[in-house]
Amino acid sequence: MAKPNSDLKSIKKATAIEDKVIEWRRDIHQNPELGNNEIRTAKMVADHLRSLGIDVQEGVAVTGVVGILKGGKPGPVVALRADMDALPVTERVDLPFKSTVTATYNGQETGVMHACGHDTHVAILMGVAEVLAGMKNELQGTVKFLFQPAEEGIYQEGVTSWGAKQMVEEGVMKDVDAVFGLHIGSQMEVGKIGYRSGPALAGVDNLEITVHGTQAHGASPWSGVDPIVTSAQIISGLQTIISRNVNITAAPAIVTVGAIHGGIRHNIIPEKVEMIGTIRTFGDDQQNLVHKRVNEIATNIAESAGGKADVNITKLYPATVNDPELTELMGPTILAAAGEGNVLTNPLITGAEDFSFFQREKPGLFISLGGMKKGGDPTKTPSHHTPDFYIDEGGFVLGMRVLSYFVVDYMGMKK
Ligand SMILES: [Zn+2]
Ligand SMILES: [Zn+2]
Repeated sequence: MAKPNSDLKSIKKATAIEDKVIEWRRDIHQNPELGNNEIRTAKMVADHLRSLGIDVQEGVAVTGVVGILKGGKPGPVVALRADMDALPVTERVDLPFKSTVTATYNGQETGVMHACGHDTHVAILMGVAEVLAGMKNELQGTVKFLFQPAEEGIYQEGVTSWGAKQMVEEGVMKDVDAVFGLHIGSQMEVGKIGYRSGPALAGVDNLEITVHGTQAHGASPWSGVDPIVTSAQIISGLQTIISRNVNITAAPAIVTVGAIHGGIRHNIIPEKVEMIGTIRTFGDDQQNLVHKRVNEIATNIAESAGGKADVNITKLYPATVNDPELTELMGPTILAAAGEGNVLTNPLITGAEDFSFFQREKPGLFISLGGMKKGGDPTKTPSHHTPDFYIDEGGFVLGMRVLSYFVVDYMGMKK
């Protein structure tokens, strides 16, 4: 395994600009913007990158910003990514820089809050840009800064999109050799870094099933086909996919039916039942298997009852898969950044990340950065996407350090 060469003196600057990063983060936290509306945030990023002499492209994938920093020596292109969007959540944490911003989201008035910590990602990457721009002549390659919009996804009538997906479609990954990103964690202690090789976060698909029967009087069920009884059998059947079809020793999977609608009155057997749910898988083969079994179970059970089921599965996020070779290569770098005893193996996470769209193009590594105050109890600390979500700022320097190290070490190994 190659030895990390990230002990360049300039990287020590990460500590020197900590105060600035905290200030940027508070500013962004107090002025959160929903996906594809990150106008103020994007301007702040673009202005900062320009002030460092970095080439800037704005309006990428609606509101995204791409910065190109060409090093003094030839070498690979390393991309670093930060997501910029906030969520429709009303902040309840009592901070001097608490968000009081409101917006209309899908027709509903709501507070807006950085309830997933993307404000910290933006500030950390702005800091990294400053560190790396300061050692431009020593860099053996090009750094590509990807400040992306809409990680949480846009779900509007007829429109589903993600910032990373759109950035990929606009070609940002074409010249990239490797891509790195991090996510702050409200339930992981400051000073820690967690990661895992291979599948890390789940792929997510939307499931819709419509069961068609034949309407009848509730007192004479034999004269119709009852879609409610059929749906009950389908829901039970779907649960056997995980218990009987998926090799759960390799990776788990999830099929959840989250809503079911059918019928209007106690003595009417309705014509149809609609259900919606979510599917979580950890790779293409498993995803294909689960989709196939959902289709077979729903359609065949409905048919056996004399009815019919329409199954509609929409792919949302692919699984976040850390390239095993790149992950192994960067292991010593992570250890050098965090120090002995501070590197954890992440469990599989059944949530999702649109960083996966970048990783489908080029080898990528996505890590977790501690954002919970030292000594905190993760089981009592508010989770992401909640009004009480809180991040301790003590972990930002480590975030800057590890991203800077990724760039310098990768370039050193691949030049
Ligand atoms: Zn989130
Ligand atoms: Zn997030």
